[in-house]
Amino acid sequence: MKKTLLIISLLLSPFILMLVSIAVIIGITLLILMSEEKPNYENITLSEFGENEIPSEFIPIYQEAGEKYAVNWLILAAIHRVETNFSTNVNTSSAGAIGHTQFLVCTWLSWNYPSCSTASRAIYTNPEIISKYGGYGVDANGDGIADPYNIEDAIHSTANLISHNLSMINDIRQAIFAYNHAEWYVNEVLGFAEAFSGGYIPVDGRIIEIDGETAWMVPHTKNITSEYGERWGTQHKGIDIAGGGDLGKPILAFMAGEVIYSQWNTGGYGYLVIIEHENNLKTYYAHLQKQGIKKGTKVKAGQVIGYMGSTGNSTGPHLHFEIRKADTPVNPRPYLAHWIGTEPIK
Ligand SMILES: [Zn+2]
Repeated sequence: MKKTLLIISLLLSPFILMLVSIAVIIGITLLILMSEEKPNYENITLSEFGENEIPSEFIPIYQEAGEKYAVNWLILAAIHRVETNFSTNVNTSSAGAIGHTQFLVCTWLSWNYPSCSTASRAIYTNPEIISKYGGYGVDANGDGIADPYNIEDAIHSTANLISHNLSMINDIRQAIFAYNHAEWYVNEVLGFAEAFSGGYIPVDGRIIEIDGETAWMVPHTKNITSEYGERWGTQHKGIDIAGGGDLGKPILAFMAGEVIYSQWNTGGYGYLVIIEHENNLKTYYAHLQKQGIKKGTKVKAGQVIGYMGSTGNSTGPHLHFEIRKADTPVNPRPYLAHWIGTEPIK
């Protein structure tokens, strides 16, 4: 009996070995195939701003077009936002751009079509004519016309054009630049796209200032109104940056780190965010307009963490900013030298 078992197992072992090798080969092939998959933008998590700002009915359209043309759908949402404020203003522009994403008729129909700019609607919405002449307009909803005033057609056509630009230059900045030849436009679109995805760039597309590992916390002003140190007989533990009429404007994380505190503070700080950084540093952002970014969030330098306010012990909108080294407040000036120098205000 034992002998038979031995013979069977000896006979089987090469077979099992072969099965194992096949399984390994299949596994490796699958891994390679998966790693070569085209970029997947389906699992983008929206920032709070993105969730509040992007009308939810458009999201499936952006996603479908993004997937079809391999374009980050947040770029499509951002273009839609910048072009027509999510279709709340679809008037023809002074340059003659039309529809939900403001195409020139010639770009939609094709610049190769004779006197494209004066083509009738029946002509420029005809998918056969468009494809014959190589335009970018597409009929995405399958109603037989490629209509810049149909939201699906417009978003898909935008994706089509961006995708074409990307295939030529493979650089999203330049691809957007080719959509509308202006640097401000590129900055605004990318600003919105990043704000939608994680609040990395302030909401109105202003350029944030990042230098190496640090960002200036208050993009709209460098007006220092109070220094660290002795003040009215007490110790001022941080530096004040005034917002003037800038109530509600974004406040950014000074450095990358983790939010370890974000709530109302009864000690006079009002709504306070504390971020823990490397090297035993913490930064404090006080008097925020409302509760800041969630505790536990890992932030990048320059990420929006709250909005300028005047909550707690405060006489007007400003950011009270502290740097603590080993939990002891230190003068932030040396850390901020790149942004505001080291010379204290009088
Ligand atoms: Zn202060």
